[in-house]
Amino acid sequence: MNLKAVLCVLAACFQSAISLKTGNGTETARDLPPLLLVSFDGFRADYLNKYSFPNLQKFYSDGVLIKQLTNVFTTKTFPNHYSLVTGLYAESHGMLASRMYDPRVKKIFTLQNDSDPFWWNEATPIWVSLQKWGYKSAGAMWPGTDLQIQNQTSSYFLKYDSKVSFKERLGNITKWLTEDDSVKFAALYWEEPDHTGHKYGPENTTEMARALKEVDDHVGLLMEQLNQTGLWERINVIITSDHGMVQCSQDRLIQLNKCVNPSSYVLVDLTPVTAILPLTEVSVLYKNLSNCNVHMKAYLKAAIPDRLHYRNNERIQPIILVADEGWTVVQQGNLKRLGDHGYDNSLPSMHPFLAAHGPAFRKDYWMNSINSVDLYPLMCHLLGIPELPNNGSFSAVHCVLVSEKCPDLGVIVGMVIGVLIVLSTITFLFRLMKNREPSTSRPFARLELQEDDDDDDPMLE
Ligand SMILES: [Zn+2]
Repeated sequence: MNLKAVLCVLAACFQSAISLKTGNGTETARDLPPLLLVSFDGFRADYLNKYSFPNLQKFYSDGVLIKQLTNVFTTKTFPNHYSLVTGLYAESHGMLASRMYDPRVKKIFTLQNDSDPFWWNEATPIWVSLQKWGYKSAGAMWPGTDLQIQNQTSSYFLKYDSKVSFKERLGNITKWLTEDDSVKFAALYWEEPDHTGHKYGPENTTEMARALKEVDDHVGLLMEQLNQTGLWERINVIITSDHGMVQCSQDRLIQLNKCVNPSSYVLVDLTPVTAILPLTEVSVLYKNLSNCNVHMKAYLKAAIPDRLHYRNNERIQPIILVADEGWTVVQQGNLKRLGDHGYDNSLPSMHPFLAAHGPAFRKDYWMNSINSVDLYPLMCHLLGIPELPNNGSFSAVHCVLVSEKCPDLGVIVGMVIGVLIVLSTITFLFRLMKNREPSTSRPFARLELQEDDDDDDPMLE
């Protein structure tokens, strides 16, 4: 038996193991509900509290709401979309920023030049794993679905084109899901409210209200389309985002040219995380950048804090600058965008939200926060495929599933109150009984004593 045949047998065994694991006698993995993952780029978590979302509210009130996702650093679009579908921090999946340089092969990555599989191949997105197990997937503009990652695109995909409307993207997704029941995973991406957030800043409530109403209308259309195609009751849908957005200002500019000579380094990426490839003495450049502005931290690569999970990759440059929230790094000149993201992922303004609906999810259930990398093991569980090594945790998120036994906070509080009432009642009754005892026994005791007193026993004297 050659190696290929052995692998096929192993795959077949695993396939049946999946069927057994997920089945109840008649159900096989093929009967599992499909999973649709939707991202509205740049949907800051607290937009949910500040604006009205009638459709989205309808969606999660009949499902799950996770109010905040702690996403990954850098809080940019590509790193975070890739973390959602791999469960890996950026240093592990290699999609580290919007602009990168790999010194091993001397290649440059930009948002306009992103289709070389080289940049994507350090990780395996969930649709590639799924397809390796014989299922199909569909992608409508989700970053990477139209590229040859590990030699395969998503089974069905749309070539990225920002001009294609949401309706058209959604129409393709529902078509693929209804026409081919081996499609088990679909991913849908939309550029708003990120675009408006950058252009006007998240504090422009007029423009943000307009963009967010449009997003909510898209959620309404999504529910309507899924209903019309008969998918609504049997599909699991997750709506989330990659990052938040924060207001920037001309008053919060950091001008690098005031601190270092531009000929002393190559600028790989600019703001709010600046990647510097030194051309002169690293220590001198680092010292000058460290003292450049109190609202910007400079790190030598080896000293980047562990919590950022942003050190162990060749594509991270020798010096990294991180601007404070709302500050913009430029070499010289003026502010270009009124809103931005990419900052420290511990900042709430950088966090997106997550909502879920479908047969697998609890109803009217909410959680405060999870890590965005936890979504990957959850999705693997929903699809019945094994997780590849990842930074997420299924146990952190499993309570959103109706099939999981989780303590209900309301029930726990109720039980604690119940136990306290019972204990208080017992204590009260015990005290009552104790108080009564002396009033009945004492007179006898006294009588006995009196009798004793009265006992004129000569022996005692
Ligand atoms: Zn953006």
